[in-house]
Parts: sequence; C-alpha cells; structure tokens
Amino acid sequence: MLGAFNIGVNAASGSITPLCSYCRSNPAQAVDHVSSKSHGGDLTAGNTTPACTFCNSSKKDRIAPLNAPPSCNYKEWPPPWWPEWFTR
Ligand SMILES: [Zn+2]
Repeated sequence: MLGAFNIGVNAASGSITPLCSYCRSNPAQAVDHVSSKSHGGDLTAGNTTPACTFCNSSKKDRIAPLNAPPSCNYKEWPPPWWPEWFTR
C-alpha cells in the first residue's frame, strides 16, 4: 500500500524530521493509519505513514485528508503524488 503512495518522506537530504506524506509541507508529528483503525487498519509498515497534525485531523477515518493545510506549499489539492486509489 505504501509503495503505491510513493512516499519520499525525507524530501530534503539531511532532514531529521520526515515530512508529512500527505501534504509534504509540514513536519510529520504522528504516524497515521492509512486505513483507519475503525476500518480494520493495523500498525504494520504497509498501513502506516507519517502525517502532520493538520492532515491527520483533516483525514480522521477518511481515506485521505479532506483539506490542504494552510501552510501547504502546493496549490493543487489533492496533490499530484497521491495514488489514484486515494482520491476515488
Ligand atoms: Zn500534512
């Protein structure tokens, strides 16, 4: 699942904190369940991804965050690196 997500979490070389895999703008502050716990998602590597506080709370138990963070560097939302299955 994460392979489809194509996460380049450490976008900047030498960065210590991984970027949020959803917005790639904010430092990740949480490990998000890609498929939420309420939908049976577990904490395996294939179902976890770094997320910032904003994306995590925008997502809740949806498949993806609903809104871009105010600080998002990208004008497109959903951003182009999200896999297709993510936005359906
Ligand atoms: Zn984010």
